[in-house]
Amino acid sequence: MEPILQVENLKTSFFTSNGEVQAVRGVSFSVEKGDILGIVGESGSGKSVTSMSILKLLADTGKIKEGTILFEGQDLTKMGKAQMRKIRGEKIAMIFQDPMSSLNPLIPVGKQVAEMIKEHHPEKKKDELKREVLDLFSRVRIPEPEKRYNSYPHEFSGGMRQRVMIAMALGNKPDLLIADEPTTALDVTIQDQILKQLRGLQKEFGTSIIFITHDLGVVAELCTRVIVMYGGLVMEEARIDDIFEDPKHPYTLGLLASIPKLEQDKGQRLSPIPGSPPDMTNPPVGCPFAPRCPYARNICAAECPEFKEVGEGHRSRCWLLDPEAPSDHNPFR
Ligand code: SF4
Repeated sequence: MEPILQVENLKTSFFTSNGEVQAVRGVSFSVEKGDILGIVGESGSGKSVTSMSILKLLADTGKIKEGTILFEGQDLTKMGKAQMRKIRGEKIAMIFQDPMSSLNPLIPVGKQVAEMIKEHHPEKKKDELKREVLDLFSRVRIPEPEKRYNSYPHEFSGGMRQRVMIAMALGNKPDLLIADEPTTALDVTIQDQILKQLRGLQKEFGTSIIFITHDLGVVAELCTRVIVMYGGLVMEEARIDDIFEDPKHPYTLGLLASIPKLEQDKGQRLSPIPGSPPDMTNPPVGCPFAPRCPYARNICAAECPEFKEVGEGHRSRCWLLDPEAPSDHNPFR
């Protein structure tokens, strides 16, 4: 089956007064129909810039320098503003972490969702639009949809606002939904409800989802596949079971160690990965994780390893996986 989205060698930079920030440095992945792909990494890993590049919603200083983004066979990098506006919202929808920034505080939420549907379907009449919005509100479990249709965003809790955003995103039955940290600001119970809902709606509508997060625990609940990003590169890609049962990359191992366990004592500290991400105005020539990696060797600082097949549907980028790579001392210790 043809993937719905195929990103090939994507390179995106920001040109700032401090120089070129090489946020994404050659990222490739694909999304099949009905897939839920998790993109995981810390801030600055390039995960959000990847999604903003797909939607061509980069800040003015941002530029896609190289690569192709094939969506249903068409290269989005070659599309003009008008074509992209048509694709956004109708074919590809997005949910952000902060729904308040995407909702107009002065317009009732029901009307905002109706307007978004109308933008892509001007032939729909007022009554039909309202019916559709009420149906969407019920599906995303907004209680008393008829009454809430006329409520303003500030009358909703954070979780309820995020439900409105999901309803808005699904309004035009997009083929691909990109969700960028949509549950990060919510408490665990609400987060759990939203994840369940996304999974249910994905099944019902057959929408493919890209779910961006810094939290591998959330990925475990929702995704079918995952890519782990660091320093603007994909470090590991695998099916969800393989990433938890047989992780290959030291950075993935570090992220796994920072997931809270059910049996963990309340006061017990998690193990965040020591150190900080690389400066992307001057990215390292070698493995970007090397200064933080407990297994680094000389070659890691000198040369970036290739992204290699390490199992079925499982790829990783680490010198430890190359039996011929020289094993000597760690230059960072
Ligand atoms: Fe660590 Fe070297 Fe592997 Fe990078 S390539 S993750 S520094 S062992």
